Amino acid sequence: MSQGLIFAETLYPGVQVQYDCEDVLFQSRSEHQDLVLFTNPVFGKVLMLDGITQVTTGDEFIYHEMMAHVPILAHGAAREVLIVGGGDCGMAEEALKHKGIERLTQVEIDSAVVDFSREQFGEFNAPVFDDDRFDLVIADGARFVAETDRRFDVVLVDSTDPDGPGEVLFTREFYAGVHRCLKPGGVLVTQNGVPFLQPDELVSSIGHFTSIYKDAGAYIAAIPTYFGGHMALGWASDNPDLRRVSLETLVERFTAAGLETRYYTPEVHAAAFALPRFIRDLVEKGRAG
Ligand code: SAM
Repeated sequence: MSQGLIFAETLYPGVQVQYDCEDVLFQSRSEHQDLVLFTNPVFGKVLMLDGITQVTTGDEFIYHEMMAHVPILAHGAAREVLIVGGGDCGMAEEALKHKGIERLTQVEIDSAVVDFSREQFGEFNAPVFDDDRFDLVIADGARFVAETDRRFDVVLVDSTDPDGPGEVLFTREFYAGVHRCLKPGGVLVTQNGVPFLQPDELVSSIGHFTSIYKDAGAYIAAIPTYFGGHMALGWASDNPDLRRVSLETLVERFTAAGLETRYYTPEVHAAAFALPRFIRDLVEKGRAG
């Protein structure tokens, strides 16, 4: 027990969340970022990179289920999926639950995060490392999407915030690179921060999406660790129908996929595109450029 030790999240100027630390399980500095893993009585194991919470065993299911299942079930026939970032491999675990996916490529810049998460987060990512469909590439995601000959049905950007190595994953160049390696009718989903605290991040990404894709928008999920209200998940595709798949179709696909989930339901999927007014206004602002 690390008596009295506290880790503070330093992402937002003017407000900080402090986590009581029971035990420091691991601490290191990789070529790319500072990493610490500790236990907290509410959230279980907490991973921070450069002082910013990335994942906790307590609420990872909300973020990973909503980011993976919404685009995959909206698409309905995804075979090739790309994850950019996602070092803890929780996103890969959710995506690989879809038996129709033939290959899941994950491009992560920091091998240390993957190695360490494989050892420490087996409770949610263990199946990934036994799955022949999992193809891990250690590289910068922006460079990968600019250069690859591969094409994907769904691209999931499970990035850090726009600071440090993750900054490039919020640029127009990166979103254009994703567009170039999406198959026709494919869809991009991004973690786009908590709009109440990071409004400009959403406006900026939607602005870039709008300049490249035929359809740009966002959907929401409330994830306790990413405090401050709903998190926005950015959405870009050349197929506007994917954002409006009927509840009946979603129920059919969800049932056929045989998924066991704790947050995602087809009803939650459909409702997640109904945005609170202030978030809808940010999306509109982004679309207006
Ligand atoms: N769910 C988390 C959140 O929203 O806070 C993100 C978790 S995941 C651990 C983020 C991952 O993105 C990290 O493992 C980090 O190394 C990776 N990453 C950051 N920049 C990257 C880049 N340019 N290319 C590929 N991966 C990157």
